[in-house]
Amino acid sequence: MTDVIQKPEAPLNFIRAIVEADIKAGKNGGRVQTRFPPEPNGYLHIGHAKSICLNFGIARDYNGVCSLRFDDTNPSKEEVEYVESIEEDARWLGADWGANRFFASDYFERIYACAERLIEMGKAYVDDQSAEQIRENRGTLTAPGVNSPWRERTPEENLDLFRRMRAGEFEEGSRVLRAKIDMAAANVVMRDPALYRIKKAHHHRTGDAWCIYPMYDFAHGYEDAIEGITHSICTLEFEDHRPLYDWFIENVSVPSRPRQFEFARLNLTYTVMSKRKLRMLVEEGFVSGWDDPRMPTISGLRRRGYTPESIRDFCDRIGVAKSNSMVDIAMLEHCIREDLNDSAPRVMGVLKPLKLVIDNYPEGRVEELEAEYNPENPGLGWRKLPFSRELYIEQEDFMENPPKKFFRLAPGQEVRLKNAYIIRCESVVKDEKSGAVLEVHCTYDPETKSGSAASSRKVKGTLHWVSAGHAMSAEVRLYDHLFLKENPDEEKDFKACVNPDSLTRLTSCMLERSLSEAAPGSRYQFLRNGFFCVDTVDSTKTKPVFNRIVSLKDTWAKIQKARQD
Ligand code: ATP
Ligand code: MG
Repeated sequence: MTDVIQKPEAPLNFIRAIVEADIKAGKNGGRVQTRFPPEPNGYLHIGHAKSICLNFGIARDYNGVCSLRFDDTNPSKEEVEYVESIEEDARWLGADWGANRFFASDYFERIYACAERLIEMGKAYVDDQSAEQIRENRGTLTAPGVNSPWRERTPEENLDLFRRMRAGEFEEGSRVLRAKIDMAAANVVMRDPALYRIKKAHHHRTGDAWCIYPMYDFAHGYEDAIEGITHSICTLEFEDHRPLYDWFIENVSVPSRPRQFEFARLNLTYTVMSKRKLRMLVEEGFVSGWDDPRMPTISGLRRRGYTPESIRDFCDRIGVAKSNSMVDIAMLEHCIREDLNDSAPRVMGVLKPLKLVIDNYPEGRVEELEAEYNPENPGLGWRKLPFSRELYIEQEDFMENPPKKFFRLAPGQEVRLKNAYIIRCESVVKDEKSGAVLEVHCTYDPETKSGSAASSRKVKGTLHWVSAGHAMSAEVRLYDHLFLKENPDEEKDFKACVNPDSLTRLTSCMLERSLSEAAPGSRYQFLRNGFFCVDTVDSTKTKPVFNRIVSLKDTWAKIQKARQD
């Protein structure tokens, strides 16, 4: 028995409380073993991250072991690509399973033997009813089910038929093996659930060795027991299945007695989380792939620029509860802002450039201004910013006829250029036909260089800018929610509310020179424009691509503050 519990790194929740109580009571000899059991039929999403943080976090904090187990019992939907991506994504999140990587398919022979034993004990039978008949005879929540006419077959006959099922003698759907429990059970799950079905499909690991496959419920508890899992943590929809889980553990001979605990799955606003739906988005071209930066997948969030730390922080903050709820996606965005606020260098990038000419600045002159990367984090150092007569500023930072309280640039108005000088707008050059402003002409005050005494002169606005002759051009991708509705799952057709404007590509952005060295995956704050990450798929030296991770406007922090006031 262990009576010293390490100080947990994550907040206490009801499952951790159970684990702590079990350790104190000496259950399982004080041993803690959990598992993360994905079905390899899609990429991991942020909901899986919640489960990973919970399972691996408990193992980490209570001297336990957490294994990665692929629940590959359904051959037609599973692929090697998914196995590989799941490992990559889980590892990236910080999960460490050591040598404990398992496949349900590794246990097929043992699970099969276990089914034969149930048959011999008279606790399982081969049913010849069609799937439809089985469904009809299952009864309802208020009416009991009807016994199958094949329920009283002898163990000998069942064994013979089951072996012939395995040998491939029967067609798919013609027979199933069922547990013999109780067709009148109040819990529908307990009404003689299926244990094995015929499926003549190629399996990504066992090939064509099998044409019958165990059902998830049957296989899962048995796998947990084989591996010595102590706390089998799953989501709430399995609550009704717990009596069945316990029935299997009691009725088959197993080396250990795991227990199942259920917690609420994560739902996030403006997105969907089911792998089936995410797969439809990929296959029907709504997104560019599982790693599209708009997807709630781990690979999508990674490509977008999210850090593993920010996702783990999010999982800590949402907590673990017993009832389902919806989490505001703004909270996830808050977590990455918190992470990058200090750690990301702050640079200047102009998304929609407007030419600005400083008429009294000597032609051909270039000053190299010193600029700190991040005042919150002096360790990030400094870079040199070239300043010259011709610059770019943001189109929206200039208005020819501004309303009151427009604190940016307008004719006759002064602004500060970040890290540089105070300038005043003197005139504009317009396109004769369209009237569009092509150039803004200004004068600068040489006395107001950043850092000088006169630079502290009060002006209303500070603008970001880049030197036209030194800037690098880049594509910037801005993202909005993938769905227009807060809860797309409530819609009749979730695909009908995909946001058609969830991606905006700005192809002629101008970024400061220092970014030409930015490696794929590196993250920055573009002053006033948000946090950005160099795209790891499409970005090249000659055509750099930056993804906007999030804007700077923290709606989550605002909501929290309003609640406190
Ligand atoms: P989906 O409906 O997205 O396919 P799933 O539950 O079928 O999800 P699995 O691959 O079986 O996906 O899940 C692996 C583990 O992750 C399970 O223990 C499951 O409970 C957990 N999990 C899946 N989705 C969520 C979620 N949204 N929140 C928390 N845990 C989740
Ligand atoms: Mg599943």
